[in-house]
Amino acid sequence: MANIIIINKNISIGRYIFASLNHEKTKMMQRITVAKGDGIGPEIMDATLKIILAAGAKIEIDEIEVGEKVYLAGNTSGIAKESWDVIRRNKVFLKAPITTPQGGGYKSLNVTTRKFLGLYSNVRPCSSLHPFVSTKHPKMDLVIIRENEEDLYAGIEHQQTDEVVQCLKLISRPGCEKIVRYAFEYAKQYGRKKVTCFTKDNIMKQTDGLFHQVFDEIAKEYPEIENEHWIIDIGAAKMADTPEVFDVIVTLNLYGDVLSDVAAQIAGSVGLAGSANIGEECAMFEAIHGSAPRRANQNMANPSGLLQGAILMLNHIGQNDVAENVQNAWLKTIEDGIHTYDIFKDGTSKQKVGTSEFADAVIANLGQKPTLLKPVSYAKGSPIVLPKYERKPAAKKELVGIDLFIHWRGTNPDELADKIKVIGTDTVKLSMITNRGIKVWPEGFKETFCTDHWRCRFKPEGIKAINKEDIGRLLSKSYWVGVDVVKTENLYEFDGKAGYSLGQGQ
Ligand code: NAD
Repeated sequence: MANIIIINKNISIGRYIFASLNHEKTKMMQRITVAKGDGIGPEIMDATLKIILAAGAKIEIDEIEVGEKVYLAGNTSGIAKESWDVIRRNKVFLKAPITTPQGGGYKSLNVTTRKFLGLYSNVRPCSSLHPFVSTKHPKMDLVIIRENEEDLYAGIEHQQTDEVVQCLKLISRPGCEKIVRYAFEYAKQYGRKKVTCFTKDNIMKQTDGLFHQVFDEIAKEYPEIENEHWIIDIGAAKMADTPEVFDVIVTLNLYGDVLSDVAAQIAGSVGLAGSANIGEECAMFEAIHGSAPRRANQNMANPSGLLQGAILMLNHIGQNDVAENVQNAWLKTIEDGIHTYDIFKDGTSKQKVGTSEFADAVIANLGQKPTLLKPVSYAKGSPIVLPKYERKPAAKKELVGIDLFIHWRGTNPDELADKIKVIGTDTVKLSMITNRGIKVWPEGFKETFCTDHWRCRFKPEGIKAINKEDIGRLLSKSYWVGVDVVKTENLYEFDGKAGYSLGQGQ
């Protein structure tokens, strides 16, 4: 039977379009939002929709415009307000890549969408297709689950002195709990055996330290799944060298961003990978590559990345049988050697095809399975729903000092110490000065290179805690002695545990 599709905007997906208002038949339908994007976007979206509709996907489509045209029409976020309404109403969004115009002022639509919709989890499966697509890693089959909302991607950046700019790395307990729990639930649902956590908590003890700590806490709730932690640098090296030792990797936003592109590339090509961005209410599915404008309108692009995104979407909306059929047909097509230019290789490939011919070949293979590549089997599942985050009881919080960040163009830390000591009081005194995190006073090294950005730490003496009045006094005195404080950071203890790092060398 033909699929019942209500097209709310003109989408050319050929004979698979069929409109009906039959309520009984449309009951099982999932309404989704589709954006065809820029560059190769429209071609690969048409191919993707054509394949999944031919396989029996029960979807109704609302098409919205996002990307270059919207940016250039003066909307710096790349999406109109009415389009947000459609995305929020349908909750499932299949998006082709878009082009972000060069030049300042344009905000990344991907980052905005992830944050606005609370899409906390980015899921990127990367498996090799050996021997049909060239790879050095024939046994690679891993999934990277990347935290999607926090970390340096909060985009909170400031210039503080002539020489120094900063970007805030924000990591929250709810953020860590959600992504780590999601990774274990994903492993459970998809029969994966191990979850590996990557952090750099030997250096970033507070931020990455929290992620690692939460990972250890939550791992205990899943004794049937193996767990391990790697420091990101050696972990990334291991992944690039021997990816088959990993199964599910969970990590912070920036590491995951970099690592998942590496994983996709070493599996075969970034053009073959899709990703899911999952939130509590909404989800967005896409290819991991960009809009490749140089390849646009030539019927050349490989639609596989977006198709993989659509398969993740079908699994997410419970149409696992359709997802399985499409994935097996796609694997068979790759195995048949029917390849787009980007993965075509003389000797291995049999036929070089364009975007639409590739889609037709996948459709012709529907209902079939690969013989050499491992066919997939997706159990009937439903979207992973996590328990609501419950805020923990408040810890005992004590103010035990303050860091004053100072813009000072001198070079000798002893001179700065003499200048700033005078703002201290009998009970709050200068205890340390660092430059770019390295202790330069007391007892610094003359070899340490210093910028014009100094952190002066004031700690209580003879008493345990200070109060906000002490801070007010320090700040007003610094003003009177002509010290340029560009930022302050309170030092707290939570239940007696320091909530701040020591200076390097302290
Ligand atoms: P890109 O991924 O678009 O393309 C890099 C190269 O990879 C292309 O020149 C092409 O040779 C190849 N390629 C990529 N996808 C392919 C496919 N499906 N089939 C065949 N070959 C493919 O990266 P870029 O050139 O750095 O970025 C182009 C634009 O895409 C930029 O405006 C960038 O901002 C945007 N972008 C968008 C997204 C997104 O919307 N999710 C992601 C990344 C980049």
